[in-house]
Amino acid sequence: MSKLQSPQRLLIAGGGLAGTLIATAFAARRPDVAITLAESGDRLGGNHTWSAFGTDFGPRERALIDPFVSHRWDGYDCRFTGGAFTYSTPYLSIASDDLDRVARHRLGDAVRLDTPVTALDAAGAVLADGSRIEADAVIDARGPRQLAGVTLRWQKFLGREVRLADPHGLTQPTIMDAAVPQLDGYRFVYLLPFGPDRLLIEDTYYAEDPAVDAAVLTERIDAYAAARGWTIRAEERVEVGALPLLLAGDLPTLWREATAEGAVPVGLRAGLFHPVTGYSLPLAARTATRLAELAGPVTTARLMAAVEGIARDHFARSAFDRMLNRLLFLAGPPERRHLVLQRFHGLPQPLIERFYAGALKRSDQARILAGKPPVPLLAALGALPERAALRSG
Ligand SMILES: Cc1cc2nc3c(=O)[nH]c(=O)nc-3n(C[C@H](O)[C@H](O)[C@H](O)COP(=O)(O)OP(=O)(O)OC[C@H]3O[C@@H](n4cnc5c(N)ncnc54)[C@H](O)[C@@H]3O)c2cc1C
Repeated sequence: MSKLQSPQRLLIAGGGLAGTLIATAFAARRPDVAITLAESGDRLGGNHTWSAFGTDFGPRERALIDPFVSHRWDGYDCRFTGGAFTYSTPYLSIASDDLDRVARHRLGDAVRLDTPVTALDAAGAVLADGSRIEADAVIDARGPRQLAGVTLRWQKFLGREVRLADPHGLTQPTIMDAAVPQLDGYRFVYLLPFGPDRLLIEDTYYAEDPAVDAAVLTERIDAYAAARGWTIRAEERVEVGALPLLLAGDLPTLWREATAEGAVPVGLRAGLFHPVTGYSLPLAARTATRLAELAGPVTTARLMAAVEGIARDHFARSAFDRMLNRLLFLAGPPERRHLVLQRFHGLPQPLIERFYAGALKRSDQARILAGKPPVPLLAALGALPERAALRSG
């Protein structure tokens, strides 16, 4: 940048996961860009624990997220009524406290907290106080919204970070303990051991609707802890979520709605999540890395083209995942869903890693579908066409 040139201005509306990662990636790679990260809340990232497998990231994405990682483990476990599985795939978690602390340190004055954006377009945004910020590039990272052109189900949960009276004895996460009573669809408990007596216990459901009854799930976590012989001494944090699971989608419709205001949608807003888990951390890291690596001028049009390319690629690659969701939700009775998941988790670890990373090979897909399906064949055939699932909603 010559001394006479003014820096290009990048405005990001929403300092959640996607917006904060993009801002940090630009701060690291593009000193010629003046960033504004406008977040309506009083901290970045809200109240979340974001987790993912180490194998979900390429080296550049890993370098971006590494400074934020709060916990890492060398493997994880799953339990089903028919058996238990242990894997050596690394697992990691980012606590929103750490995202907030590290990003604010790196971004400094670029972060504007308590700054709700009330309207945005391709050239800027209007803030709640009526003032307008002009920018060369505008990113809409305001988080989940009603997605158009999709058929969804939900992964809903309530998680309690607790301190136990005694050590729990876990050395690595339990991603799914599905050897629990199967209620409201596929149910499992998710455990992240943050310390010898510190644990995140999440009661999770693959369900038809997103409603979470906090009182009921809190009691079920009490009952689960008691059954494991754990006494909860204190509850330190609660997080609740209902993540979208995509059964069918029409990308042109989704994209038209997501871009209607003219800014570049990212994160959940842009449909950038894993159809079967609702997780968006790996795709958020990929989006941030790709955008910050673009050479040349930073404009809304150029970032829009790049994110649309990522969305197209993701949508095409995840067609098989959407079909698996249709098999899971439309073909079999809810109380048998755990058998589908149990069978899947008995497959070879590299295949499971590729599944979560969105990188299944054709041979993996054949392997997943091979053998006697745990759902009725006729219903399975009926669930296959995406168009039909899209029409029936
Ligand atoms: C409790 C919970 C746990 C999750 N766990 C995982 C996980 O383990 N792994 C994973 O990959 N995914 C997880 N997800 C799913 C997904 O990754 C998260 O929802 C992720 O935070 C989505 O990122 P995002 O940037 O699209 O939206 P968000 O992170 O929700 O960010 C949106 C931000 O925009 C701000 N905002 C909204 N409106 C405005 C406005 N008008 N002006 C300014 N700012 C605004 C919000 O305050 C928020 O900070 C979880 C989701 C939840 C709810």
